[in-house]
This record gives sequence, structure tokens and C-alpha cells, in this order.
Amino acid sequence: VKPLYGERWHMFDIENVALSQRRIAIASALKKAIEFDQLSLFFQPQIYLNTGKVHGAEALLRWEHPQLGNVPPDLFIPIAESSGIISDLTEWVITQALQYQKKMTVLLPQHIVSINISAKDLLRKDLPVLFITLLNEYELNPANIMLELTESATLFEGVDIKNALNDYRLIGVKIAIDDFGTGYSSLAYLSKMGFDEIKIDKQFVMNIEYSKNDQTICRATCDIAKSLGSYVVAEGVEDSQSMAKLQSYGCEVGQGYFFSRPLPFENYMQWLGANLE
Ligand code: C2E
Ligand code: CA
Ligand code: CA
Ligand code: CA
Repeated sequence: VKPLYGERWHMFDIENVALSQRRIAIASALKKAIEFDQLSLFFQPQIYLNTGKVHGAEALLRWEHPQLGNVPPDLFIPIAESSGIISDLTEWVITQALQYQKKMTVLLPQHIVSINISAKDLLRKDLPVLFITLLNEYELNPANIMLELTESATLFEGVDIKNALNDYRLIGVKIAIDDFGTGYSSLAYLSKMGFDEIKIDKQFVMNIEYSKNDQTICRATCDIAKSLGSYVVAEGVEDSQSMAKLQSYGCEVGQGYFFSRPLPFENYMQWLGANLE
């Protein structure tokens, strides 16, 4: 519907109201998602580019609501973060991911599971305890657990993230900086935090074939990572040409539709079984 001349602001208001009402509706539906068993974890393979062997998988949250359908995490995670629901979601994700990791390491003992953690989650003192409990319960190697931490404004609000990360380092789990280059991190930050892994965001990878700028960014990220002693995982690898480019820059691991889409756990186990050598 085209707004009549002069009605512009009116239209904007209606859109804003609709948007905030939608957010509130999503937040209240999300609160019940765990209880009503609407969540699941998908797994997307990560592959060593040089050998083609399996490095592990990233756990990605899925929410299927009976009326709203499949709600994309890019939509509901920010709402979960701003409404406080994220802490329950994160606990659920960690518990599930480590339980599944137990089964995945039966097929591949050195399998690495990557878990997305919100900056806000890092400030919780009880999460390291949850990790210790689950690692003991499932007898897992903490070095095979990678926490993917997205750089966000929260990380720079004077909070002592380095201190929070130390709790995890003591346990022995690894830390990755996610979506590197898209957010707030500086090179000083990168050097100070000593991340085990740097993840190049798909926005730099998807057009790498023909974008000189993206090639430069990916190559530079790989060089920086090497100098800092971290390894690089590139996400959004969609074809063999992109894979070859990343490989030539020294990128160790790739993740993307070229290898596989994110899969439900049972399908991932089948995929893993078929891709062990
Ligand atoms: P992310 O951490 O950057 O995850 C990678 C996203 O890229 C995933 O989207 C994945 O499905 C998608 N992707 C992977 N390979 C390709 C490819 O080759 N082409 C294209 N076009 N896309 C690819 P997804 O699963 O929709 O997740 C979106 C975001 O939601 C994630 O971005 C992450 O920030 C957040 N998220 C997902 N699960 C969790 C979770 O358990 N906890 C938290 N805190 N955030 C999560
Ligand atoms: Ca991630
Ligand atoms: Ca992310
Ligand atoms: Ca990303």
C-alpha cells in the first residue's frame, strides 16, 4: 500500500509499533520453546582444507514454532539477548551439544564441537561450573570444545572479558572469535585476548572468487592469525574455487554449503560416518 502524501511519519509509526509487538510476541513464545520441546541443534561440518578430513562441527540452534514456523536464529537470538531469555537458551545448547559430542567422539575421537556463546553469557559465573559438570559426566576432552564468541558492544563496555575467558582457559576449553572483522574488535584486542581460533565471516568468503577486496581481507586475516598463533576457520565456503583460494592463503579449516548444510543430529552422524577417511 502506497502511503498518501503527508502520511509518511504515520506509516513509520505503525511499522515501529508492529515491529516491537512482533518482538514481544516472539520473546513470549521463545520463553516456552524449551518447555514445549520446540528447539533442536543442527550440526554443520568443518573440514581441514589440506587433507579433506573432518575437523568437527558447529552447533546451530533451530526453533520450530507451531504457528510461527521455523524462526531464523538471526531473528530470535538478538531478541533472546535483549530479553534475558538467552541464559536459558545457552544452558540448553551447551547441555545438548556436550551430550551429542559424546556420541560424535565415538566415531571420531578428535572431533571438535563449536558452540556459539553470547557475550552476556560470559559474565555468568555458573556456566564454567556447568561445563565442568558436563565434561566430567560425559568424560570429554575439554580441548575438543570450542566456544565461538561474537564480538559485540558488550565486550567493550568495560567488562573484564579477559578475566571471564580465564575461567574457561583453566577448564581447558578453547575460544574462537566469531564473525571476525564485522564488528568491534581491533588488532590490539585480538593480540590481548589470544584466541585459539579466528572465524572469518561468510560475508568475506561468499564473493571471494571475484572480489579483490574480500581476497585481501581473507589473506590478511590468515596472515594475522598465523603470526598470533591462532588458526583460521572460514565460514560460507560454497564452491571449490573459494576453497582453493582460502587454502592458498593458509586457511586451515572451511565450513559451508560446499561441504554440507547444517544437519539434524542423526543426519550429521550419518554424514560423519561416511566421511571418516
Ligand atoms: P554464525 O555463528 O555466523 O553461524 C554461521 C551461519 O552461516 C549459520 O546460520 C549457517 O547456517 C550459515 N552458513 C554456513 N555455511 C553457509 C554457506 O555456505 N552459505 C550461506 N549462505 N550460509 C551459510 P544460522 O544457522 O542461520 O545462524 C545464524 C546466527 O545465529 C549464527 O551466525 C549465530 O550468530 C546465531 N546462532 C545460531 N545458533 C546459536 C546458538 O546456539 N547460540 C547463540 N548465541 N547464537 C546462535
Ligand atoms: Ca558461529
Ligand atoms: Ca555469530
Ligand atoms: Ca558469521
